[in-house]
Amino acid sequence: MTPAALHPVALVGAGPGAPDLLTLRAVRTLRRATVALVDDLVDPGVLRYLRPSARVIPVGKRGGCVSTPQAFIHRLMISEARRGERVVRLKGGDPFVFGRGAEECDALREAGLEVEVVSGLSAGIAAPASIGVPVTDRRHTRGVAFVTGHAGPDSKEPDWAALAASGLTLVIYMGLSRVEPIVTALRAGGLPSDTPAAAICSAHTPRQRQVLCTLATLAATVMRERLVSPAILVVGDVVSAAPTWAAMSPPIQAVSAR
Ligand code: SAH
Repeated sequence: MTPAALHPVALVGAGPGAPDLLTLRAVRTLRRATVALVDDLVDPGVLRYLRPSARVIPVGKRGGCVSTPQAFIHRLMISEARRGERVVRLKGGDPFVFGRGAEECDALREAGLEVEVVSGLSAGIAAPASIGVPVTDRRHTRGVAFVTGHAGPDSKEPDWAALAASGLTLVIYMGLSRVEPIVTALRAGGLPSDTPAAAICSAHTPRQRQVLCTLATLAATVMRERLVSPAILVVGDVVSAAPTWAAMSPPIQAVSAR
């Protein structure tokens, strides 16, 4: 096929879990796809919107364990698209919120391919909302900061002191395994230890669990309740808007049933 005749590659956000949180555009794009490269955070239920004949290629990257090198994913998308396939790159949440969607977009464009981005519902909004936490409730905050808790060689450590002083709701992706140093840094930055906090794992899946507590008790609570990845941490007064918050007695609160 000549480049002009090739199909655009679609970077599709699969949302946080439950397939009925897919957008209609995501469903339409999935129905057209002939090849799907799928992240391991994508709920298997989402794949039912692919045609039965579509080829599904798992390219999970979870937690840096068994991971598919990013360059391999780029090459695979490019070679499949150049063969004339309708390629969908299916990513958890929103493709441009962490998870390297922008890098994939650049690689595709550098290869001369067109890219279509299909936004998805990001876990940083949907996980707090699933327990009734409105991340930008103006009665509590001026806004929200979405940050990574997992600074690696290729991503910068957030400025925790600046975030502590910002008055913003902090929504922390990939922070569960580093909850202790994150809490320490936020407290050192002056965030009061009684600031409401929550951790929500596997939001919008049957495995969802969560805890509500305070900044001071967050690390101990997620450990005691044995929360596992993927999880979102939320720190800020908005957490006190969760309906279950008022029902609990301070200083340590935890709920784990959905
Ligand atoms: N693009 C994704 C984020 C990818 S980074 C999005 O927009 O949601 C992966 C991190 O997202 C996980 O470590 C976790 O912090 C968060 N995450 C993804 N799905 C989640 C879910 N269902 N419940 C809680 N956290 C989730």
